[in-house]
Amino acid sequence: MNVSKKAYLHFPKEMTDKPFISTLSRDFDLSVNIFRAMVTPGQGGYLSIEVSGEESNVERSFEYLKTHLVEIHVGDVGLMWNEETCTHCTNCTVHCPPGALHVADWKTRRVSFDESKCIECLACLSHCPYGVCSSIY
Ligand code: SF4
Ligand code: SF4
Repeated sequence: MNVSKKAYLHFPKEMTDKPFISTLSRDFDLSVNIFRAMVTPGQGGYLSIEVSGEESNVERSFEYLKTHLVEIHVGDVGLMWNEETCTHCTNCTVHCPPGALHVADWKTRRVSFDESKCIECLACLSHCPYGVCSSIY
């Protein structure tokens, strides 16, 4: 059975020179969609990805990554939106590619967060003047 799973990978500094993405593709026959990446050689980093392929290959690939000290959070949405502190200024909505942050009702201009659409690109972090959005990682 084919599945798609979102995952957040955190790389320790010792592993930043390893070609993990090409390995997932080549050795586990997976398609990898990268939403966000920041890896600094020798310092560590992270990737927000979605992997698609045969379920057993996806699971085996995660085990492979863990044996190489990669910390994995599967299926978690790493974005926190604090509705209580949101001023509904709508600034983030034009910077949210999939529309996870959106104006739910144009009469009230209230902003809502649809977690199921969030791809964890974290663009909203730098576009919210009030620090309403934060990453759990
Ligand atoms: S992390 Fe990206 S996709 Fe998720 S709400 Fe923020 S801007 Fe939208
Ligand atoms: S930019 Fe911040 S305050 Fe404005 S609507 Fe988005 S989350 Fe709310």
